[in-house]
Amino acid sequence: MNAPISDASWTRFDGIGRTPLGFEPTPLIPAPRLAGALGLEPAGLLLKMDAHNGFGLGGNKVRKLEYELAPHRLEGITHLVTSGGVQSNHARVTAAAAARLGLECVLVLNGPEPKIPSGNALLHRLFGARIVSVDSREARDPAMERVAEEIRTKGGRALVIPLGASSPLGALGYVRAAREFVGQLAEVGGRPTTIFIASSSCGTVAGLTLGLAMAGRSDIRTVGVSADVSEGEILERASILSAGAAELLGAPDLTAPLIPEAGFVGPGYGLPSPEGQEAQARFARAAGVIVDPVYTAKAAAAMHAWIESGRIGRDERVVFWHTGGHPAVLA
Ligand SMILES: *Cc1c(COP(=O)(O)O)cnc(C)c1O
Repeated sequence: MNAPISDASWTRFDGIGRTPLGFEPTPLIPAPRLAGALGLEPAGLLLKMDAHNGFGLGGNKVRKLEYELAPHRLEGITHLVTSGGVQSNHARVTAAAAARLGLECVLVLNGPEPKIPSGNALLHRLFGARIVSVDSREARDPAMERVAEEIRTKGGRALVIPLGASSPLGALGYVRAAREFVGQLAEVGGRPTTIFIASSSCGTVAGLTLGLAMAGRSDIRTVGVSADVSEGEILERASILSAGAAELLGAPDLTAPLIPEAGFVGPGYGLPSPEGQEAQARFARAAGVIVDPVYTAKAAAAMHAWIESGRIGRDERVVFWHTGGHPAVLA
């Protein structure tokens, strides 16, 4: 274990504005039967349940939005505008936050509009968001600008939230999560070597690896399992975001190790993979835990494969960081 980098950075961190939305700490729970099913010792697997942070059906976007939606950033704001796919978890939590805060919400979503909305598409509408459909990922940013301009001409003011709330500011939500987790480890007495976590826009792993380093736990490596992007993109996005977050904190730009893993995307973003479905069944039957087909099932599949192939030793302790996505199971 390394010494914590800098108390001054944590002091600065605690002075940064935040709008609490989720419950914390999220549970860190043992999963002895699942550990056994994977060939680990019974104490070899912990689940960090950000899926259960209790806001807008939960998940990792809650922690990032708490910083994106800090009180000082909402002054004079009438609308939240963000983007994603038609089944976006981020869009769902943003719509819930707008409802909580008494703001209008516009979601720019790419992909065919569902005839009968289900899963997150249903929840976007239930939370009262207006949906603007575009036909490609590339069309999202220009459409958000157009929407913000239209709001301006009508006398309102939009806060445009980047994809996945993955900005340096949003990443601070996972710096906070890392500190919370390290505190819980002290209670549980676990000595994990590796965290498996689903990744895409990479604000989550950026904040997590920065926070682990700040908390003196650079001995824990994080495997960022891609839902869509390449390994190079994971490293590039994460390093830009963690450097930006470190700058906000006056902290050194040092992170705990991040290992990108893009071998489990399967047929593509949002499409179930056979390995993911197998992992999903194993989580459900050996732990009573649901993982979603888009993100967390693929991270679970990677964890299984790493244990099976010996990349994780049978006596190692690992953490599966559950980032949510439950509505996709019912989409
Ligand atoms: C968005 C999302 C991720 C990926 O988080 P990033 O910060 O975009 O890398 C992982 N899991 C779930 C369930 C998500 O919704």
